[in-house]
Amino acid sequence: MNPSPSSRLHGPVLRWYGEHARDLPWRGPRASPWSVMVSEFMLQQTPVARVLPVHEQWLARWPTPAALAAEPSGEAVRAWGRLGYPRRALRLHAAAGAIVERHGGEVPAAYDDLRALPGIGDYTAAAIASFAHGRRHVVLDTNVRRVLARTVQGVELPSVAVTRAEREVALELLPEEDAPTWSVALMELGALVCTAGNPRCDACPVRDLCAWRAAGYPAYDGPPRKVQTWAGTDRQCRGRLLAVLRDSAGPVHRSRLDAAWTEEAQRVRCLASLVEDGLVVHVGPDTYALP
Ligand code: SF4
Repeated sequence: MNPSPSSRLHGPVLRWYGEHARDLPWRGPRASPWSVMVSEFMLQQTPVARVLPVHEQWLARWPTPAALAAEPSGEAVRAWGRLGYPRRALRLHAAAGAIVERHGGEVPAAYDDLRALPGIGDYTAAAIASFAHGRRHVVLDTNVRRVLARTVQGVELPSVAVTRAEREVALELLPEEDAPTWSVALMELGALVCTAGNPRCDACPVRDLCAWRAAGYPAYDGPPRKVQTWAGTDRQCRGRLLAVLRDSAGPVHRSRLDAAWTEEAQRVRCLASLVEDGLVVHVGPDTYALP
C-alpha cells in the first residue's frame, strides 16, 4: 500500500532535521527535564537567540525546581531579565514550588500532572511530556501549525486558534515511534526554512509535497491577525518600570519610576497593573520592590 500523502512528509523532514538541527542546550539526552521545562516557559513568546543566555544562567543558578522554589519569586523576576512577558517568571516559580510539593522535586512525565501545575496550558504540558520524557503527544506550536497548514492544508497560515480538524491532521501524522523527534523536526523546519514571512522553498525538503506551493501560494484570506506593536504601549511602559526595580538591589522610591516613563496616566496605570499581577509589591509610602 502506498503511504498517505501526508505521511510521505516523514522521511524528508526527519532526514533534513538529522542534518540541520541546531544544537540547543535543552535538546537531546544531556538536557534534564527541568532544563526542557525552563526552555518551554522562556520560548513561549521569545526567540531562541534571546533565550539562550538567560536559560544558561538560570540553570546554573537553579539546577533543580527545588533550588528555584527555595528563593523569593522576585529573584525569578529579576533573573528573567529582558525576556519579556515577565508573568512567565512568576508562573515558573509557582510551578517549581508545586513540583516540590506534589512530585518530590521531579518534573512529572504525565500530561495531566503537568497540566495541573500553575501556568501550564495544553501546549506546554504536551511539549514537556514529549521533549523531556519521550511521551507521544501532539505538540502544536506556531511553527508546527504553520508548516502543517502549508504542506497538508494548502493555506499560508493556520486559523487564529487551534481547530479540531488541525489537531486531527497533526495526530494522524504523529508517528508511533519517536513522536518527539517528529515534533521537534517540524518545529525546526518552521523556524529555519518555512518561516512566516519569507519561506525558503528552494531549501525545503518537502517542496515537492507542499500543498500550498502546489496551489501557487494562494494569499491568506482569513480574519485579520493582530500585529504586535511595542513603542508607546503599556507593555513597553511596564518593561521600563520593571527594569528599574530589577536593576536595583533593594526597594526604590516612586520618583525613580517617574523618571523612567514620562506619561503620567499611563505610568500610574501600568504600575498598578504590575502590583496587581504580583510582579511588584508596594512596600512603604511611595516605595516599591520586587516580590
Ligand atoms: S515548500 Fe515552502 S511553503 Fe511549503 S513547506 Fe517548504 S518552505 Fe514551507
